[in-house]
This record gives sequence, C-alpha cells and structure tokens, in this order.
Amino acid sequence: MPETRTTRCLIIGSGPAGYTAAVYAARALLEPVLIQGIQPGGQLTITTEVENWPGIIETQGPDLMLQMEAHAGAVGTEVIADHVIKLDLSRRPFVAECDSGAVWHADAVIMATGAQARWLGLPSEEKYKGFGVSACATCDGFFFRGREVIVVGGGNTAVEEAIYLTNLATKVTLVHRRDALRADKILQQRLFNNPKVEIIWDHQVDEILGSDADGVTGIRLRHSKTGETREVAASGVFIAIGHTPASELVVDQLETHMGGYVVTRGFSTATSIPGVFAAGDVTDHVYRQAVTSAGMGCMAALEAEKFLAVEADAVAQAAE
Ligand code: FAD
Ligand code: NAP
Repeated sequence: MPETRTTRCLIIGSGPAGYTAAVYAARALLEPVLIQGIQPGGQLTITTEVENWPGIIETQGPDLMLQMEAHAGAVGTEVIADHVIKLDLSRRPFVAECDSGAVWHADAVIMATGAQARWLGLPSEEKYKGFGVSACATCDGFFFRGREVIVVGGGNTAVEEAIYLTNLATKVTLVHRRDALRADKILQQRLFNNPKVEIIWDHQVDEILGSDADGVTGIRLRHSKTGETREVAASGVFIAIGHTPASELVVDQLETHMGGYVVTRGFSTATSIPGVFAAGDVTDHVYRQAVTSAGMGCMAALEAEKFLAVEADAVAQAAE
C-alpha cells in the first residue's frame, strides 16, 4: 500500500519560487512539505554565474539553490526528493501522487513547477550551452559586453532579448526562420530602429560553430526556402524560441493561458481553484527571473496562510 500523509501546505517545485514559499510557510507555522521534482533547485542549477540576486554580487546558480534549500529546511520545511506524477484538485483535501508511490493529502497547494526554455535540439547547441549558448539574455548578456551576438526567434521574447542585448553587445543579429516577426508591432519598430541590429530573414540554424578553447565562434544558417547555407561570426547565441511552462499536472484543472501558463487573479497568486496558488515561471510569461519567482513564492505562502486561517475560522464558527 502506498504511504498516505497529510499536510496543511504542499509546495510542488524546488526553484526560487518553491523554496521562498517554503521559508514563509514554515515561518507561519504551516509545517509545509516541499516536493523537489526531478530538477532539485530548478533552472538555476543549470547555469553558472548569477549576478542579479540582490545582496550577492556573484554566486554560482547551484550554490545559491543549495543555500535556499538549506534555508527552507532550517526554518522547518520538510523537503522531499520525489516527483508529483498526478494531482487531483477536484476535491478537498487535494491529493498528490508521487513517483515513489507516496500520496499526499493537502489543504492548500502551491504550484511552483517553473518552466523550461525551448531549445532547437541541435547537438552543437547542447555542447555549447553555458559556453556561448544561452536562453536568457537578462541572465547571461553581461558576459557578452563589447562582443557580437546572435538571437534566434521571432516572437516577443526574441525581440525583447535582442533590444536588451544592444545595451551590451557591439552588434546583435536576429535570425528568424520566416520573413515576418510575430512580436508586437511596437517592439518590432523599436528593433528596426536600432542601429546595432541586423535581421537575417528566412534562415534556420543549421549548427552552432565553436571550439573547446574558444566556446562559440559563430553559427551556420540554412535558408528556409533555398537550402543555401552561410556562416555568421558571433561570440554568443541566444535561443529565444519560447518557453514551456511545467503545468501538465494542472492544465486540465486550472485556468491557463498563452500555451499553458497558470492564470492568477489580479495582483495575487490565487488560481481558479480556491486553496491552489501558483508562483514563479509556471505563471509568469513576462519576467521569468529568480527574484520575481521568489517574490511570487512569498506571496503564495502568505496567501495560503490567510486562506487556511479563514477556513479554520469558518470551521470553528460552524462548530459553535
Ligand atoms: P524553476 O527554477 O523552473 O523550478 C521548477 C521546479 O519545479 C524544479 O525544482 C522542478 O524539479 C520542479 N517540478 C517541476 N515539475 C514537478 C513535478 N511534477 N513534481 C515536483 N516538482 C516539479 N534568472 C535570474 O534571475 N538570474 C539569472 O542569472 C538566471 N540565469 C538563468 C540561466 C539559465 C540557463 C536559465 C535556464 C534560467 C535562468 N534564470 C535566471 C531564470 C530563472 O532560473 C528562473 O526564472 C527561475 O528559476 C524560476 O523559478 P521557479 O521557482 O519558478 O521555477
Ligand atoms: P512565441 O511567441 O511562441 O515565439 C516563438 C518564436 O520562435 C516564433 O517566432 C517562432 O517562429 C520561433 N520558433 C519556434 N520554434 C522555432 C524553431 N525550432 N526554430 C526557429 N524558430 C523557432 O514565444 P515567446 O516569444 O517566448 O512568447 C511567448 C508568449 O509570451 C507570447 O504569448 C508572447 O506574446 C508573450 N511574451 C510577451 C512579452 C511582452 O508582452 N512584452 C514578452 C515576452 C513574451 P514562427 O514565428 O515562425 O512560429
């Protein structure tokens, strides 16, 4: 028989959103349980330098996440190495089934399952990830100041990343597979007006070029219609072809939008089901930063605490 346990507050995910929610929920004496998932520490564990976490001038992503895990544990969170495979939000308590066979009953759930950048799927892209290939200009753009970079994609993210990178790089080449961008017109205008930007239309990435010693040195492109190839030199390649929120557990149960991001109500983390809160990249299609995710984790824990307190009051009044 699988083990069944109960918790007042179940936090799913161990990125900045999940661990921050855990710190706040534990300090509110909710005795939270946090399920880490298959990527303990979340997306920051696959990067190197993090230079925009306030209070720490520079740290390594994996180190920062170990510190967050230790912090969550030190204030009383039960951190569990497991992965939620099924979540039933149709009844109270909510029920989470884990990969190990464990079953959790929870009065409140905080979804902090994050998102994953989409990649092109090329072996050379995989080889140079962290050595010139990135999916986050805000995170890694600083390393390419004074150099030439390439951005791949034609949506809002690609255009925003390209514009942001013009503040750091000497030249930004945007490569798009079609002859028209899908980004908002106002962003397109800003891009077209920027003298540091060149756009290469109708090309797809064939291969990221580089060497073990130098990292990325350029990119080989293939014309979408003619198949002709050409090479473009650059020190950095930013893949900006979209993100996929990790909302598969709830996509049929909670209101979602824009390709699966969990919808939250107004300036809160409340979802379409009372008692279920969403924080971090699983709900945020705009900022997608560690610090904003942590902020939402804090909000989610405070809102879960309030939700549980109101509910407890109602039960007490009904019993009088
Ligand atoms: P994530 O960090 O995505 O964590 C999600 C968590 O959910 C993981 O622990 C995963 O195991 C868990 N999970 C998923 N599904 C399940 C499940 N079914 N059951 C249990 N657990 C589950 N941001 C910055 O601010 N500064 C940077 O320098 C920076 N650098 C970056 C570099 C790279 C290469 C990448 C990819 C991102 C970078 N970011 C950076 C963005 C930042 O990492 C994210 O915005 C942040 O990690 C999002 O936090 P999160 O808690 O919402 O989710
Ligand atoms: P997106 O809108 O899905 O755009 C992805 C882009 O990448 C498209 O141009 C697509 O080309 C291209 N692409 C996809 N797969 C590719 C591949 N394998 N090879 C080459 N190119 C590929 O993703 P996004 O830009 O990340 O935006 C996601 C959502 O967040 C959108 O709804 C967007 O509006 C929103 N967002 C909003 C803002 C803002 O409002 N400021 C900022 C960022 C994101 P095609 O055009 O040919 O399909």
